[in-house]
Amino acid sequence: MAPPRIYKNFIDGEWVDSLCGQTFENLNPANRDDLVGIFPKSGPDDIDRAVNAAREAYKSWRLVPAPKRGEILFRAARLLQERKETLAQQMTREMGKVLEEARGDVQEAIDMTFYMAGEGRRQFGQTTPSELPNKFCMTVRSPIGVAALITPWNFPMAIPAWKCMPALICGNTVVLKPAEDTPLSAYNLVQVLEEAGIPRGVVNLVCGFGPEVGAPLVRHPDVRLVSFTGSGEVGRDVAAACASSFKHTCLEMGGKNVIIVMDDANLDLAVDGAVWGGFGTTGQRCTAASRVVVHKKVYKEFAEVLVAHAEALRVGDGLDPATQMGPLINEAQLATVDRYVQIGKDEGAKLLCGGKRLTGGLYDRGSFYAPTVFGDCDPRMRIAQEEIFGPVVSLIPCDDLDHAIEIGNSVIYGLSSAIYTQDVSKAFRAMRDMETGIFYVNASTIGAETHLPFGGMKQTGNGHREAATAALDFYSEWKSVYVDFSGKLQRAQIDNA
Ligand code: NAD
Repeated sequence: MAPPRIYKNFIDGEWVDSLCGQTFENLNPANRDDLVGIFPKSGPDDIDRAVNAAREAYKSWRLVPAPKRGEILFRAARLLQERKETLAQQMTREMGKVLEEARGDVQEAIDMTFYMAGEGRRQFGQTTPSELPNKFCMTVRSPIGVAALITPWNFPMAIPAWKCMPALICGNTVVLKPAEDTPLSAYNLVQVLEEAGIPRGVVNLVCGFGPEVGAPLVRHPDVRLVSFTGSGEVGRDVAAACASSFKHTCLEMGGKNVIIVMDDANLDLAVDGAVWGGFGTTGQRCTAASRVVVHKKVYKEFAEVLVAHAEALRVGDGLDPATQMGPLINEAQLATVDRYVQIGKDEGAKLLCGGKRLTGGLYDRGSFYAPTVFGDCDPRMRIAQEEIFGPVVSLIPCDDLDHAIEIGNSVIYGLSSAIYTQDVSKAFRAMRDMETGIFYVNASTIGAETHLPFGGMKQTGNGHREAATAALDFYSEWKSVYVDFSGKLQRAQIDNA
């Protein structure tokens, strides 16, 4: 067998080892005997180097015309397109999601890169009349400085791209710290940016763990922006660390998303949506449909068909084309899922299928769990309130639309929700009343597109949005510009009163 490949950090345009020389292993969650690669276990000194490089590079990058920055992003998008299949296969190997979904993850990075490349020629501001004669007013976007980007493992290339591309097109420089479970996809993205011609120091990659790399990065005095996607627990720590120096902070955190199924819904369509939303990416999407609230008139029928579909799902290695659901990311996540299943049973929810680790054959080498459905859940149960991040769906019966909306909104999160109904009035009422940043009608809770804002209400986020032009609002600051060509002193609010 060939020795495992050793990967490096990317700092100031060079591929380098961590200063302490330590490394960590990236394992395939479908087969723990398969070592995907060895990555640098970095520390605060590496962060210091990377932030210094980004700070120096910012001096010239902010002055590069945005359309020129866009040309680099266009080249990067084309390289990603050319390599899509290889990148997807490597992603499945390091993260476990089925190959079709890994292709989708790379495609999302491609879409975002093209989209933000185009923003190089837009970034439109406003011109507006002045209240004084012979005076001109406009707004322009200004870059901010060094951006710290901290990403989770569930979208190993899409999320780093969501953050890097808008940061770069606005003229910021970046230090990217990917999740320790999925450094390879971030490495591949940064390599593409290097090949596309990104100047040295503009993009830096530092691999390693949260406490040793993420924590010093968000606290670094030369970091001006922090964009974090991950758990609420870490997000709270990041927010507190940024507060003392008023760093701009964008937080995208957990979800407890809901599908509402009304009694007039197309039930086959709704079941398809619940299966895709609940078990796609093994339930490890921030937008996963972990709750399904079903009208009592159709509850029994819906539950039976959903369970039949869940039991029929083929679980296995995501590289096998027959596989419909891959493994969980690691043993810790599997233990969390198993703990919640026990909590659900103890709370009195009815286990309709799954509820156990899969064993035997290839299952013994990876972190595989059976697709799990709980029935007759009370919306106050912990399994119906807390993010599990695994293939566990809680079914909750409801009386009518008002009841469904009340249940849907009864959690601390507000990322995504969906309704299945044929009644346009019900669809619009739910659209208005659901407290989520994303809402679907007759489609599942997952499937965001890159040209629409992405993010959540309540404790899912802190009011910012990723993707679309909304992302530019985080990665730039508005500058209001007044040009007085009257040749005399003109005093706003005084001379024209
Ligand atoms: P996590 O919070 O454990 O880790 C996220 C990142 O933060 C990793 O890179 C990690 O190394 C880093 N980190 C850990 N401790 C840190 C610290 N003290 N300071 C700075 N950085 C630190 O989350 P995860 O397990 O990787 O991802 C799963 C979570 O992400 C789920 O809660 C999921 O809902 C959420 N998520 C949210 C969205 C969204 O857009 N709302 C998208 C994807 C995932």
